[in-house]
Amino acid sequence: MHSFIPPERFFPYLSWTDIQAMPNKENVVIIQPVGAIEQHGPHLPLIVDAAIGVAVLGKAMEKLDSKIPAYALPTLYYGKSNEHWHFPGTITLSAHTLLTTLIEIGESIYRAGFRKLVLMNSHGGQPQVMEIAARDLHVKFDDFLVFPLFTWRVPHITWELLSPQEKQLGIHAGDAETSIMLAILPQQVKMEKAVAEYPPPQPEDSLLSVEGKLSFAWVTRDLSRSGVVGDPTTATKEKGDRILESVSDGWVQLIEEIYRFQQLRP
Ligand SMILES: [Zn+2]
Repeated sequence: MHSFIPPERFFPYLSWTDIQAMPNKENVVIIQPVGAIEQHGPHLPLIVDAAIGVAVLGKAMEKLDSKIPAYALPTLYYGKSNEHWHFPGTITLSAHTLLTTLIEIGESIYRAGFRKLVLMNSHGGQPQVMEIAARDLHVKFDDFLVFPLFTWRVPHITWELLSPQEKQLGIHAGDAETSIMLAILPQQVKMEKAVAEYPPPQPEDSLLSVEGKLSFAWVTRDLSRSGVVGDPTTATKEKGDRILESVSDGWVQLIEEIYRFQQLRP
């Protein structure tokens, strides 16, 4: 049931008496992985975002110093994926349902005596919901530190391994995601079906971009016929292993910092 998470770090394997007796509970780091079940082109399964999140977290937890208490909650496989819903198989929660779910999970964690919760999100379509959930939980409980974090924002080497075009426009089911899937779930990747597709180019002098600082609302169908936005054909398992190693190193550093983190109070 624990997937890539080391069993001793899997929260649901604890008993209520383990939790009641746990020392220094206000600094224990509880991590909620949040994924998505959504189309990732013809060559990748629907589970990509959820799988990558759990794989990164599992690898980070294997490397984490055993003296640092941190536990993974069961992955929330469903996310807000309505930008992909023209492609069958995508399952989406509304922003409201996802927000309510995260807040109710957070309330349960707080009630158990924990004071540090990480929302570890792996899907690019929902960081805004993580941020609202984290802020609302912290407003509700002053001493609850909630961290709305995106899996890919820790320091890592991935950009060094990608082409300039892929770095800029490979936002979905491209080289990075496909490489990491070849490393973690190779039987679920169909490389013979991989196609490259980039969004229609913006004028050179445009201030607007798909995922830049000044953006516009889009659904995937506006950008791609195949559901791929990027180039998966150059993906390799070796690249995936290096990406996984590097992103999980970033997460080790981040979990250690969150364990020590204390909020300044006026
Ligand atoms: Zn994805």
